[in-house]
Order: sequence, then C-alpha cells, then structure tokens
Amino acid sequence: MESERIWLSIAQMGGSEQKYIQDAFDRNWIAPLGPNVNGFEKDLESFLGEGCHVVGLSSGTAALHLALIQLGVETGDEVICQSFTFSASANPIMYQGAIPIFVDSEKDTWNISPELLEKAIIDRKVGTGKYPKAIILVHLYGIPAKMDEILAIASKYNIPVIEDAAEALGSEYNGTKCGTFGEFGILSFNGNKIITTSGGGALVCKRSEQAQRAIFLATQAKEDRPYYHHEKVGYNYRLSNICAGIGRGQMEVLRHHLARRREIHALYSELLADIEGISVMQCPDANFHSNYWLTCITIDSKMLGITADDIRLYLDSVNIESRLLWKPLHMQPVFKLYPAYVDGTSERLFNEGLCLPSGSSLKDKDIERVVSQLRKCITIQYKTNQIRL
Ligand SMILES: *Cc1c(COP(=O)(O)O)cnc(C)c1O
Repeated sequence: MESERIWLSIAQMGGSEQKYIQDAFDRNWIAPLGPNVNGFEKDLESFLGEGCHVVGLSSGTAALHLALIQLGVETGDEVICQSFTFSASANPIMYQGAIPIFVDSEKDTWNISPELLEKAIIDRKVGTGKYPKAIILVHLYGIPAKMDEILAIASKYNIPVIEDAAEALGSEYNGTKCGTFGEFGILSFNGNKIITTSGGGALVCKRSEQAQRAIFLATQAKEDRPYYHHEKVGYNYRLSNICAGIGRGQMEVLRHHLARRREIHALYSELLADIEGISVMQCPDANFHSNYWLTCITIDSKMLGITADDIRLYLDSVNIESRLLWKPLHMQPVFKLYPAYVDGTSERLFNEGLCLPSGSSLKDKDIERVVSQLRKCITIQYKTNQIRL
C-alpha cells in the first residue's frame, strides 16, 4: 500500500505520561490506588467544574455498574436506556438482573428522544404498576443530549438520570460539562476515546458520600476493621496507579485534543459541503457544544447510488479506517426480546451513517486524503453487494 493507514481514532500521548509512570515506579505505588489515582481524580474534578466528585475506575462499564448499584437497581427492576449506543451502556443493567427498556433517538442530536422517553415511562407504569428505576442517556459521538427536556421529564416522574458521557469528555450543554448533569455521570478512558489511560473510566458523583460509597464497592466492599470483614458484595473496579499516571499526562493535553477534534470536524464540514447526498452531523444550535469525538456523516444512498457500507469498504481498500454508526441495541440479538419504544430513527441512522477518521493526531492532509478518496468512491459508484447480517 503506497500510503500509511489512517485510523478512526487512536491514542495520542502528550509527552509527560511516562514521567507520572516513572514516579509511580520510583515510589513503588504499583497498585490500584496511589498518588496518580488521587491526582487524576483531582484533575478531572477541576476540569468538570465545581461540586463534582470523581472516582477513578477500571472502565466506563464498571462506572455504570456502580451507578446502577447505588441507585438500588436490583433483579426485576426496569431501567430505561438509549437504544442508539454501544452495548456497554446496557450491559451493566444485565449484570444487575434488571430489565433494559430501550428508547429511540431523535434526529437533532441522535440521542434519546424526550417524547419517546416520556411515552415509555408512562407505558411502563401502566403495564407494571411501577416507574423505571433509572434512565441511562448517552451523549453519542460527543453531541450533548437534549438535557433540559430530559431532566424535566426525569424530575416530573422522579427518576434518576445516569449520563453515559464516555464519548463526551469536554462536551458542554448550555455551558455546563456533560457528565455533571445527572445523579451520576460516567467517563471512559479506553484507547480510542478523547483521552486514554490505556483502559479505565470514572464515575462522576454529585455528592461526596456517593463517591465514598463507590470507592468502597470498587475495593471489594471491605469494611473499616483491622481484619477482612464484608457485609456486602464487592467489586475489584479501582483504577491502577500506573494507568492513572497516563491519565494525568493526558489531562495536560486534553484541551489540545478537544480543539483538534473540533478543528477536524470543521475541516470535514467545509470540504464536504458541496457534495449533495452527504451531510456532516452538526450540533442543533449554539447551546450544544460537542467535543466532536468522531465526525459522522449520513449518506443519501438513493441520490448517490452507493451505501455507507460501500464507502466503508472502499475507504478500507485505500487504507483508511471508517466505521458504521452503532447498531441500535434493540436490534441486537442479545437484547432484542426486551421492550423497545422506537420510531425507526436509530435504525435509519445505522443504515445511512458512517464515522470518519477523527483522531487528534491526524493532520489536515490526512483529512484531505479521506475526503478526496470519498469523492472518488462516489464518482466511480463503488458497489460491493455486501449482505448485512
Ligand atoms: C466506550 C464506551 C463505554 C464503555 O467504556 P469502557 O471504558 O470501554 O468500559 C460506554 N458507553 C459508551 C457510549 C462508550 O462509547
């Protein structure tokens, strides 16, 4: 292959990560606790804004699990979850033996539809006599959900909100950081997110007791006694002090990463503006400030004569990684028997959408190469006759 592969979203180190790791070695803090964990949590708290309490964990999925446990979600309880997301948003509902209730997205933000959310809440009450125990919403691809409408509905029915902000570190809604609106917020530092700890996550809590409780549950629920004494089931979910060292280094370049992802989105928007049949996903208005973790496009297949998957395969053949949008959870074999309140929005997005390479280390010339290959693919009407399962 003549040109180097362009990846969808890869880690970009800032330079001081190894200094923090070295410090952990020098002080022999090779454990799932220590100065880097504390320092990383403090850095996140000051970034997210006043009054939040952050707990570093081994993954975003673990953070969601601890949020559900703290909200008292148990076997047989129902939990509402945005359908258009990664499976990790719903898996912890299953860990608790609870029942996921999937709700479709609206087209402005691609996130949970306030109308369908309220419809689902009312319908569950009629059907089961109970309201769902919690609502999990997602700021997908970094675009904030319609928080005013959603929080109004949640408080009308008194149902706590968990914000899955795994893809939305640095995104803001009305000037407030995503992840700090709900009773709990969760962040992910997996390898392909805005910043990475190689693997890791965080739980964002409103109150310090919640954070203390999360630390307790994440460290095997060991009671404060001189011997090992346990009254609750615990988990081994705390973040490693080595990984947290990477996180501290990444916090020094977070603002740069955010600015670059936004620049990349702006560049794609400009370069693709004249192609009829391709739209770049944008925030609905100035109240929404996305980190643009991934720049996503939708393809009008009727107009262009090719599908999103044709484009993906073509780009792959010229050494460019792209990815179809998330397959909605209500369409996944593992979840398809659970109740779903859908109107076709996320299914349509799954069929029409594509994520373009958006990593903060990409240069303008990489983005230009992606766009020129995209144009070529459209011009030659590259078809593959792929059958989607
Ligand atoms: C990445 C991601 C998660 C899971 O985070 P991990 O740290 O990989 O466990 C959850 N939800 C969404 C929307 C994600 O993109």
